[in-house]
Amino acid sequence: MAKLYFRYGAMNSGKSTALLQAAFNYEERGQHVLLAKPEIDTKGAGHISSRLGVERPVDFLIGRGDDVRALVAAHGARYIGAVACLLIDEAQFLSPEQVDDLLRLVVEDGIPVLAYGIRTDFRTRAFPGSARLMEVSHSLEELKTICRCGRKALFNARLVGGRFVFDGDQVAIDDLDHDQVTYESLCAQDYLLASGGRLS
Ligand SMILES: [Zn+2]
Repeated sequence: MAKLYFRYGAMNSGKSTALLQAAFNYEERGQHVLLAKPEIDTKGAGHISSRLGVERPVDFLIGRGDDVRALVAAHGARYIGAVACLLIDEAQFLSPEQVDDLLRLVVEDGIPVLAYGIRTDFRTRAFPGSARLMEVSHSLEELKTICRCGRKALFNARLVGGRFVFDGDQVAIDDLDHDQVTYESLCAQDYLLASGGRLS
């Protein structure tokens, strides 16, 4: 039976690498997969790139309000056999309605979906897409990375010009000075230390 999988983690937990490895595993067995990501992610738009240097173009981008099932039907039609799996990077940027589409795609169309994404934003709040994935996925798997101190990283702290900030929009990648915005994956202890005790 097909399932909806949500594999989540802090930034730099190897999500894109894991996604590309999963795609390779399917293709090694002669199966067809579709790769997609939400359009909101402007950095490296149209590609999924692993920090290890592997990069692949996506089959389609998912725009705001797009019907994901219709996109899968359109892009999967070129394959004689069925689409073995849909893999989605940056899944935190999906809308809750698009996540519901994914569950219908899994249950009604029988296509497994592997969604990879970040659980929470820089203010420790769940992204709407991630919250919905937490609610409806058949399977949740955490991908781990470590904080500067060696503990498991839980949060994604935002830095602007090298200094931690705890106010701002959930998505900063479209900011004019986006070159100044970076993130560091921190454990809860170091996050609270940096924020002076703030959690949102
Ligand atoms: Zn730490």
